[in-house]
Order: sequence, then structure tokens, then C-alpha cells
Amino acid sequence: MLQLWLNSNTKERKIRRICEMQLMRFCQLFQDLPGEERMKLRTNYHIHTQWSDGDNSVEEVVRTAEKVFDEIAITDHLVIKPDGSQEPYSIPAGRIKSYLKEIEKVEAQVRVLKGLEVDYFPESERIIENLLKELDLDLVIGSVHFVDMAPIDLSEEFWIGKSQREVDEIYRKYYELVEMASSSGLFDVIGHLDLPKKFGRRSDIFPENLDVEVVEINTSGLRYPAREIYPAEAICRKLVQKKVRFTIGTDAHSLNHLSYCIKEAEELLERISGERVVFRHRAAVPI
Ligand SMILES: [Zn+2]
Ligand SMILES: [Zn+2]
Repeated sequence: MLQLWLNSNTKERKIRRICEMQLMRFCQLFQDLPGEERMKLRTNYHIHTQWSDGDNSVEEVVRTAEKVFDEIAITDHLVIKPDGSQEPYSIPAGRIKSYLKEIEKVEAQVRVLKGLEVDYFPESERIIENLLKELDLDLVIGSVHFVDMAPIDLSEEFWIGKSQREVDEIYRKYYELVEMASSSGLFDVIGHLDLPKKFGRRSDIFPENLDVEVVEINTSGLRYPAREIYPAEAICRKLVQKKVRFTIGTDAHSLNHLSYCIKEAEELLERISGERVVFRHRAAVPI
């Protein structure tokens, strides 16, 4: 009897200790945010620099961003294809630690988070997993840019001459990959969720089985023939019903896109009553 009591007592203590640790961790994360400004934080969680295909250095991005934002995340491309090769615009895997060091050492009046935008290929899951677990990152955006190994967002040419049936098939395959990316557990945020619409080709195919916690509201779709934020408002509303939360990003590749249509993204979020989060060491914190 005594042994039973001791056992249950130990178990209870363990559970209580775990709960306390979780609570402490959450409080620390939350206190880390600037007090009363929590509700008003202006953030851009999707920015590229010269480390991948952006035009500017980290320093240049930060100097401009600190005039506008409370928080930004530098999220350069990491593309590792199934055969292990890397796209020329990707950060070479061996240089990621230098990239993160450069972000860390920059002094700024804006909080600068260390991020990556990582391409998802099912065959590269293991390599990505091993790479990411070695890195001290604040957030990882998971994105799909390739369908059947063809880049769908690089140029309009890819879409020219395609029948609606072919377009639907690309959307179907694309969302299948996005769904795999979101359930892989590798990523914190899903990037530009309905990217195939970029050059104006539309489809009724819809991401039905998304098992995802955080999706970005990405304003870059407004710069292209889609003329619409990623994801479309109808998708955003479905996501809100599923308790999905959001970040905001402009997918900036140059300084003039750093605050591109940020207000539209904030207004969309308000319209759909979407909950926004910030990230600390790959943990989402509500604001
Ligand atoms: Zn992208
Ligand atoms: Zn991007």
C-alpha cells in the first residue's frame, strides 16, 4: 500500500514538475515580448538577403527594417534536392552556421530572428532533419517550389500552353507535397500556401488535409499576376476554423519590398479574426 502511495506520489510530482517547467518556459517566452506593445508588434517574417537570392546584405536589410518593424526574421533559401544537389541560389549547407553568426552579431533597434526558408522534397526529409537539428534557429518556413522537380514559380513560361486539366493536376500534386511538408514535423510555418496561382492560373483544387499549426500571410502574391495575398482569403478563413495561426511576411528580396503591403496583411488578419504568433527558438508565442 505504502509502495503504491509512494509510486503515485512520485508520478504526480513528475507530472507537476513537467507542468511547472512548461509554464515557466511559456512565461519566459511571453515576458520576452515588449510589454504593452505586444498587440501592436509590426513584424516581417519572410526576408531574403544576399545569402540566397536577395539583393542586399543582412546589415542593409536591418538598417531599413529598424525604421519600420519591431521584429523581422531573415529567412534565406535552403534547397537540398533529392539527389543531394543544391540550387545555385540556395545557401550552401556548409555555410549556414556563418549565415546565422552574421545575423546574430548585427546590432539593431529591431529584433532580428534567425530563420530559413527550406524547400520540401519528401526524399530529402532525413537530410533536412539532420541539418536543422544542429542549428540554433528561431523559425523554419517550409515551402514547396517544385512539382515533378520543375520550379513552378520561377517564370510564367512554365504555365504557358497548359490546359486547365494540366493546371489542376499541378495544383493537386503541389498540395499533396504541402500536406506532406506540413505533417513532416520539420517546419514551423508553411510558406505561401497557394503559390501555384502566382502567374494567374487558377484551380478549384483545395488543400483539404492540412495538418498545420502556423501558416504565413505572404504579401508577395500582390506583386504578381495573381494580385492576391497568399493564401487567398477563403483559404485563410478555413484555416482559422481549424485553429491555424499566422505569421506575416513580404517575401522581400530587395529593400523596396521590405514593408510591401504589410498593412493589407494586417487588415486581412483582422478581417478573418486570425491569431498571429511570433517565434522564439522555434516555439510559437501568441501576440
Ligand atoms: Zn518561397
Ligand atoms: Zn521566400
